[in-house]
Amino acid sequence: MTFTVSKHIQKMSPSSTIAAMQKAQALKAQGKDVIDLSVGEPDFDTPQFIKNALWESVQRGETKYTATAGVKPLQSAIISFYERNFGVSYSPSQIMATSGGKQALFNAILSAVGEGDDVLISAPYWVSFPEMVNCAGANNVFIDTEETDFILTAEQVKRAITPNTKLLILNSPSNPSGRVIPADEFRKIVEVCAEKGIYVISDECYLLFVYPPNEVFSVASLPKELSEFVCICGSFSKTYAMTGWRVGYTIAPESWTKPMLKLQSHSTSHPASFAQYACAVALDDVENSRSSVKEMLAEYEKRRNYFVPALNDLGLKCSMPEGAFYAFPNVREFAVTSGEFADRLLNETYCVTTNGAGFGSEGFIRISYATSMERLQESIERIKKIV
Ligand code: GLU
Repeated sequence: MTFTVSKHIQKMSPSSTIAAMQKAQALKAQGKDVIDLSVGEPDFDTPQFIKNALWESVQRGETKYTATAGVKPLQSAIISFYERNFGVSYSPSQIMATSGGKQALFNAILSAVGEGDDVLISAPYWVSFPEMVNCAGANNVFIDTEETDFILTAEQVKRAITPNTKLLILNSPSNPSGRVIPADEFRKIVEVCAEKGIYVISDECYLLFVYPPNEVFSVASLPKELSEFVCICGSFSKTYAMTGWRVGYTIAPESWTKPMLKLQSHSTSHPASFAQYACAVALDDVENSRSSVKEMLAEYEKRRNYFVPALNDLGLKCSMPEGAFYAFPNVREFAVTSGEFADRLLNETYCVTTNGAGFGSEGFIRISYATSMERLQESIERIKKIV
């Protein structure tokens, strides 16, 4: 008997970022000298003060079920973080802890849209956004931003709205382009949506990874009447180099948080109890927190300043990303499809990148520079050989 896959899951494709990462791991296991530029994962270790906090919480016996929304110290730490940095005050009923940023997004999307709803997503997008929308049974409506060098504008959003649009998903700094939507434009985009009663998800996974002189911006700093339409999805994964810990969070109006709690109470319940306590310390120990983020950001900036001009010199054209740790160069000059170019890189140089088609932008590849300067220099030498 053949297994019949459900309608919604049939519409989904596997994650191309995870597939690229696994390809790199498999080649490494075969002993190949792979340069993994595929997955967006910090090459730093989790800061020691966070690891200590985890161990202390285990020792205290914080090893049991928690509330679905997460433990009180984590909720309070998230509230204090946004108050300190963006001058906004939230109540615990608006906060919930999730198993990574992915579950935050799943919760937010599945509780907001379903069959018959249109969801606006600017392309290039992070590979999982449209698949989560597919899982919800809603329709993806993509907004191509190549004409504005991958920075979404309010005008583009206005033009893309349909009678069935219920949700817009934003991600700035962007995965895969690293581009940052200027604060003024961001506000205009949310205003356009609020006027039409369209909800907004702001994926703030790379919130603190913005290179000076650009400034960190959170949708949280917008006026209260706009925040009624917004769900922030955050993550500890990149900011504190904690990808394996799987802790994220949402901040949303209570009316949006309640259905998300209902959904999560029937799936993962909550992220690991001891990891939640450690994440509270990651935010509350302001001094250690700031210095570890500063250190990582400075290193990413050094790499960006070397790597992006080096790619441009080789003809892999891309603008300087203002945030995150990705370059998203145009490779149309070198191959018929970006998949072909990524395959050539892999097969001829053992540099693993991710095909831009999976991010909704055929003709581009995504390169993660969250790897050491030596490996980046080596990758430039290898790419040189095939272009
Ligand atoms: N978000 C990272 C990336 O885009 C990690 C892999 C994933 O979850 O997609 O590479």
